[in-house]
Amino acid sequence: MVELEDLPNVGAKTAQKLRDAGFGDMMRLATATAKELSVKAEIGEGVAEKVIEAARRAEKIDFETAFDVMERRKDVGRITTGSKALDELIGGGIETQAITEVFGEFGSGKSQLSHELAVTVQLPEERGGLDAEAVFIDTENTFRPERIEQIANAFELDLEEVLNKIHIARAFNSSHQILMAEKVNELIQEGKNIRLVIVDSLTAHFRAEYVGREALATRQQKLNQHLHTLQNIANTYNAAVFVTNQVQARPDAFFGSPTKAIGGHVLGHAATYRLWLKKGLAGKRIARLVDSPHLPEGECVFKITEAGIVD
Ligand code: ADP
Repeated sequence: MVELEDLPNVGAKTAQKLRDAGFGDMMRLATATAKELSVKAEIGEGVAEKVIEAARRAEKIDFETAFDVMERRKDVGRITTGSKALDELIGGGIETQAITEVFGEFGSGKSQLSHELAVTVQLPEERGGLDAEAVFIDTENTFRPERIEQIANAFELDLEEVLNKIHIARAFNSSHQILMAEKVNELIQEGKNIRLVIVDSLTAHFRAEYVGREALATRQQKLNQHLHTLQNIANTYNAAVFVTNQVQARPDAFFGSPTKAIGGHVLGHAATYRLWLKKGLAGKRIARLVDSPHLPEGECVFKITEAGIVD
């Protein structure tokens, strides 16, 4: 394995700066931008460029064949949602190496799904998990350990163990949220087996802080940067990213695409899978898959119960 010190232009001192700034991982370094690196690691932009260039060579970042892509997709892991119907709709569970966005109105089940996944990612593979840990970036103070307890009980898991494997970050504003996502890299490099990053809600802070037309471009740019960080984590560590996005009920949704203008274009293109949640009758929820790269659009029904998400 190539170490930081093996790269040209990197001595012990620079290597330390890089590690301190969260760029200890070669792939993380290779996918950084020179500007980002120079600011965070406090090195000159010229040096940063050279270091990134060297890391890219070390990681052999170049064109790859379709065969390579197929090989990489063989490593894709899946996390069960708790509902067989919902798992089937999205091709067998929430995918790693991808961002899955759930959007829907208040109370549609976005946070419930987030809690469920924070538990199911811990299950062994034969039970639909990845035997791994989760990061939960909580922006609206919706995380509830009591809810985790109910779900953990339903899967007959040890509560303390389950709670210890969910790493919570309260994000107080959008900058804090961006920072906490970047810090996931550090957590993983410390040796935590994180395979799921939840951001609930992805968009709330951005919407509240960047109001009005003039602010729209900045908002999209910041959100884009944040999504880029998340996609990077998904790719680098073969992790799943699950983000929630609250939208208003849209009475005009029967006409044209229901997903248009939701979260703006940035989100539409950045998320690999988009799930639209709707409230149904008698505690039921309807999930509709929209804009998937290789799965047909479709719908399914699931329920939110005391035991979590079920068919
Ligand atoms: P949002 O989409 O706004 O994040 P939530 O995921 O918080 O919505 O969903 C809230 C809904 O989940 C509640 O209205 C309730 O119907 C259901 N719910 C929450 N906790 C439980 C529980 N312990 N048992 C059954 N249903 C629950």
